[in-house]
Amino acid sequence: MKNAILIRYSEIYLKGNNRYFFENLLITNIKTALKEESFDFEKNYGRYIVSNYKVENEKQIVEKLSKVFGIHSISPCLVVENNLDSITQAILSLDIQAGTFKVECNRADKSFPMKSYEIAAELGGRMLDNFPNLVVDIHNPQNIIYVDMRESKKTFVYLNSIPGAGGLPVGCGGNGLLLLSGGIDSPVAGYMMAKRGMSLSAIHFHSFPFTSLQAKEKVLALAKHLTQYTKALDVYVVPFTDIQVKIHENCPEEFMITIMRRFMMRIAERVAKNINAKALITGESLGQVASQTIESINTTNSVVSLPVFRPLIGFDKSDIVEISQKIGTYETSIQPFEDCCTVFLPKHPVIKPKIEIIERAEKKLDIESLIEEAIKNIEIVKF
Ligand code: ATP
Ligand code: MG
Repeated sequence: MKNAILIRYSEIYLKGNNRYFFENLLITNIKTALKEESFDFEKNYGRYIVSNYKVENEKQIVEKLSKVFGIHSISPCLVVENNLDSITQAILSLDIQAGTFKVECNRADKSFPMKSYEIAAELGGRMLDNFPNLVVDIHNPQNIIYVDMRESKKTFVYLNSIPGAGGLPVGCGGNGLLLLSGGIDSPVAGYMMAKRGMSLSAIHFHSFPFTSLQAKEKVLALAKHLTQYTKALDVYVVPFTDIQVKIHENCPEEFMITIMRRFMMRIAERVAKNINAKALITGESLGQVASQTIESINTTNSVVSLPVFRPLIGFDKSDIVEISQKIGTYETSIQPFEDCCTVFLPKHPVIKPKIEIIERAEKKLDIESLIEEAIKNIEIVKF
């Protein structure tokens, strides 16, 4: 009896001729996620099997696999020969000794001399013989014991599957540049786009010494955490203090955030083009704050030509918090270090800015040289 892990892929089965491209990418991503483990890997009828790993590492292997996009479900299983006694040994070792259960059998090995329902009935009987506190329930059992008898003369025995991360393999959806703040929303936005197969880089605007070095460390910690889903993540840390000071000195107070966000977008677009990213990503959600009304979004959007993906646009804050807790970024996001957006925060920010008026206010600034100076001083942190 051997341990193995069965992996089923998600949406890839919908793909046509280019399915192998997606499959190969998923296989590469699985192997990258497990790079610290030793294991064997094989393809088996549209599923993958990981085997010959250290059994004591099984839990951590499953944990790593559950963060690889493109996987639908994962089943740790026992692998035995196609004979009833070996299969019985496997199902008895599953630790299902009380409550309701049923055995579900799939017999791909047509040379085996019993039909699948006969095998299920026989194995169910053997379970009852060994554990008198068990009760069979065909319709709504607490435990389903799956017995998958393959043509390869191997039988896979497993209990309920563990859900995978879903989505598409990272790398199939082009490159995107995530505007990553230290808040709750933007890490979730990055996660959502990686889930649709995007490879990510991140850009962070930092206002040292108005904001602390810990604020930057927090963003880097979030970026590092996201690599569990994105494989790698390069972070472009942009010094933003000079730009904020210039806006503060030269532009009406209520436009501070709008103009600042227009600078962020312009700089992000330049960096994106340099690194061949085809879209910007933000954590904006309609109406969440003054800078996320449709007028504010139009005003910040109008300075860039790349598409801007806002995967959280229709999400409530509570939905976003729930995802951030699930993906493990929440605890870091709520650490109380100030973000650059809180520097020179106006008392009454404009809620419905007009593009022409903002453009007029910006005339006092040498936009081009401010951008160039910021880009020249970017620090790149690679994860
Ligand atoms: P978040 O929780 O992601 O910080 P938020 O609710 O605080 O979002 P804003 O501060 O208005 O909202 O920011 C909106 C979006 O702008 C963020 O989701 C992020 O994509 C981007 N952004 C804001 N501040 C920064 C920053 N310092 N560096 C990079 N991107 C930023
Ligand atoms: Mg923020």
